[in-house]
Order: sequence, then structure tokens, then C-alpha cells
Amino acid sequence: MVFRCVQRYSAVVILREVLRDSERNLEGKEITMKCPICKHGSTHKGYASITLERGGTTLFFKNVPADICDNCGEIYHDEKVTRSLLEQADQAAARGVELDVRRYAAA
Ligand SMILES: [Zn+2]
Repeated sequence: MVFRCVQRYSAVVILREVLRDSERNLEGKEITMKCPICKHGSTHKGYASITLERGGTTLFFKNVPADICDNCGEIYHDEKVTRSLLEQADQAAARGVELDVRRYAAA
């Protein structure tokens, strides 16, 4: 069983890895990156709500730390957040949870 969103999240994590070099150049400033989707906006730190689905399990996370594009609104999560979300979703699916709404908490 694989989460529907896993492909998308893997892509996001890879993009973050690629962009880390440019982040290093901004040492001392707020870390932003140019949005790889629209190529015009820059991301800023914020919070987003996301939904994960797996089989009969649906999880809705609120207040997830994210980098959000100020132009197209695309949402990026760093690797640590992504891993934590997928672990929590795994546990919920294993318990047979059908629907859960929760506030994100770092694992
Ligand atoms: Zn964008």
C-alpha cells in the first residue's frame, strides 16, 4: 500500500535538496527559494493544511510548517516534516482510522 501523495512529496523533497545550495548563499537572511513550479515567485515561511489518503484512511493535518510561494501558492515541506507526516499517516492507517483531523506536532 502506498499513499497517493507519496510521489508528490518525494518530488518536493528532491526539489528541496537541489535548492539547498542556493539557500547557503543567503546565510544570515531569511531562507527563501525561487519557486520551481512557477519560476517567478519566492517562498516564505508559513503554515499550511494538508490531506493524506491511504486506502480507507484520510488524515487532515493543520498548522504544518511549510514554505509557500507568494506567486502561485505552491506549498513545500522540508524532509523532516514530510517524514513525520508519512509516519503519522502510517500509524493511523495501521490502527484502521477512517478520518482524523489533527494539529501538526513534530515527531
Ligand atoms: Zn510559485
